[in-house]
Amino acid sequence: MTDQPPVKRPRDDDSGQSAGSSNAQPTINKSDDFWLDDGNIILACELTGFRVHRGVLAMHSPVFKDMLALGNPDSEQGFEGCPVVVVPDAAGDILHMLKALYYRDYPPAEKVQLELLAPLLRMATKYMLGSLRKELISRLQVLLPDTLDAYTSADRVNRLDGLIDAELGIELGVTCDLPIILPAALYLSALRLQGQMHSMKRLLPPTDDTNLKPHAVRFLNNWSHLLDDVFAKLDDQPFWKTLEDGRWKCLSHHACDGLPFEAKRQMETRCRRLTVNVMKQPIIKVPQTWMICGACKDNVRAYERQLRGKLWDILPAACGYTSWDALRNEQSEDNA
Ligand SMILES: [Zn+2]
Repeated sequence: MTDQPPVKRPRDDDSGQSAGSSNAQPTINKSDDFWLDDGNIILACELTGFRVHRGVLAMHSPVFKDMLALGNPDSEQGFEGCPVVVVPDAAGDILHMLKALYYRDYPPAEKVQLELLAPLLRMATKYMLGSLRKELISRLQVLLPDTLDAYTSADRVNRLDGLIDAELGIELGVTCDLPIILPAALYLSALRLQGQMHSMKRLLPPTDDTNLKPHAVRFLNNWSHLLDDVFAKLDDQPFWKTLEDGRWKCLSHHACDGLPFEAKRQMETRCRRLTVNVMKQPIIKVPQTWMICGACKDNVRAYERQLRGKLWDILPAACGYTSWDALRNEQSEDNA
């Protein structure tokens, strides 16, 4: 269904050109994907040339508009009668960008892959491709959202294609001026780091921490401090009120034993050490052997929901930002 550009002549078909001749053309391998017969500008990078339309580039990007208006020393030389502009980007990145500008169904919408969106976002940011950047940000936010509801939504799970490369997410957040994705990316990075340390501890003696990612370590330190406040605020919950004979006293049924003493400590440890994904997985596990009543179980789930909301709320602060709202404001100003 995509309008494929006409297929071009094979590469290197002008090898007969005499080297050293005064009107020698630059070495350009014609792109298999973008060598449009009616193209009037060649973007050249890493020896690959893309013959496209000046007006299309200028329409999407003020950077290209200025660049093409100013001209380029290399354009004097030309290739097969078409001006050449040398750009310093990787040929693969330019190809991604041109596909996004010329094809209506690119990048494909069904699954969202950070690895595919990353080079596009870098190009969209560098060349100020406003509408493409906007579209890419909304797709990235499916992977690294700013609300807990979006993070746990079925839509996100359905559109995920494999594990998210959290480190790549952090890099994009920093280099592409996209702080709104940083809290979720740093959280995932810290979660992975904790998982690795956990399995390392079981298999190996303690080693030096040179392998650890400093940003994830910093996140975890902040996170741990912020948790004190979160737990303190939730401490006045009635079902953590009275401790009797090693049990948190049940307020509903005399026959119910109530939650065991260690339930609270285990819950706090899981949150601090991120031994589970606290945004999704049970934070208080209730084994059959606890023999608690339905009201206690409901209380546990209600507490967990409340706790989870507060954990999501402190993510920006753990990354050094004030709040989600501050991040959203910063982001919308940047993209205005
Ligand atoms: Zn109970």
